[in-house]
Amino acid sequence: MTTAKGAVLYEYNKPVKVQEVELPEPGPGLVLVKMMSSGVCHSDWHVVKGEWPSVPMPTVLGHEGAGVVEEVGQGVTTVKKGDHVILSWMPQCRVCEMCVKGFPQVCLNPVRMTTQATVKGSNDKVHMLSGLGTMATYNLVTEAAAVPVDKAMPFEQASLIGCGVATGVGAAINTAQVQPGSTVAVFGAGGVGISVIQGARIAGASMIISVDMLDNKLQMAKEFGATHTVNPKAGDAVAKIKELTGGLGVHYAFEAIGLVEGPFVQAIEATRNRGVTTWVGHSPEGLMLNISARALMMEKTIIGSMYGSSRPHVDFPRLVSLYQTGQLKLDEFITKRFSLNQVNEAFAALGSGQVARSVLTLA
Ligand SMILES: [Zn+2]
Ligand SMILES: [Zn+2]
Repeated sequence: MTTAKGAVLYEYNKPVKVQEVELPEPGPGLVLVKMMSSGVCHSDWHVVKGEWPSVPMPTVLGHEGAGVVEEVGQGVTTVKKGDHVILSWMPQCRVCEMCVKGFPQVCLNPVRMTTQATVKGSNDKVHMLSGLGTMATYNLVTEAAAVPVDKAMPFEQASLIGCGVATGVGAAINTAQVQPGSTVAVFGAGGVGISVIQGARIAGASMIISVDMLDNKLQMAKEFGATHTVNPKAGDAVAKIKELTGGLGVHYAFEAIGLVEGPFVQAIEATRNRGVTTWVGHSPEGLMLNISARALMMEKTIIGSMYGSSRPHVDFPRLVSLYQTGQLKLDEFITKRFSLNQVNEAFAALGSGQVARSVLTLA
């Protein structure tokens, strides 16, 4: 039995409680990870606000994190004690049709450990968000969720790769496959939008237009590679994007907000003929879209991107090496650091839109 301290949500819109939970010894195929850092992602915030009602309560929050393997269960072969790992919230089964075809991000049978923890001193079950619950000092995960990476990679930067960075950079590089010299528009300049911008820059786009309602976020977008910015408050964003691209629209447009219909429809309108519009990440439950059929006549491709079409065992080490060679900026991303006890402050900072990303330092 391992005692971990974790950030537990009992009720929507209530402060998160930091309390001790107990994890059993790692059984066959399981890996016990001593957590070092967890990112604070918008998805956690959606859960806190009750916007994803399918998440069971109580739950240990957090789904992007990095740490050190403490112990492995029987039959585990891909990681060993002492390995540094980034956790994946899409632990692929490796044998379904999608996994075999090379698309583990849409695995038909992901194996998530979600119900193994109990509140210390009781039998009360605590769920682990997305089978991880990274906002805790220890974590028990299925083998495929623990992706080994270079030990030289700092934990805080590594923890960001596990969700927002893989999702955003991957949407540009893997899903849309942005080509050198192409033009790109990214709606939303939060953690994921900034990562899409970085992916487009790494892929060699010549024009990257960041679209956001907040000027401080547009300023930040420029530091990560946006060549132009558009604030829809100052006028029609689609018209502005067309003006910047000789009336044609961009080759690739991305919606990285995920809240409302408008920006996605605008992203489609801002995409040129035969261009690609990508919906990045999680859409809210129940959101419907009204898309012009005429837009589709011009042979536009509209595609969803799950986890940045990431194959974690390929993409996490690749993102680590992009960071180590100075191409992927992560240091600049971490605008605030909090302890686990300050988790509610971390959410408040996220909610106010003043941070690119904050991390919880766990050890
Ligand atoms: Zn699978
Ligand atoms: Zn996330």
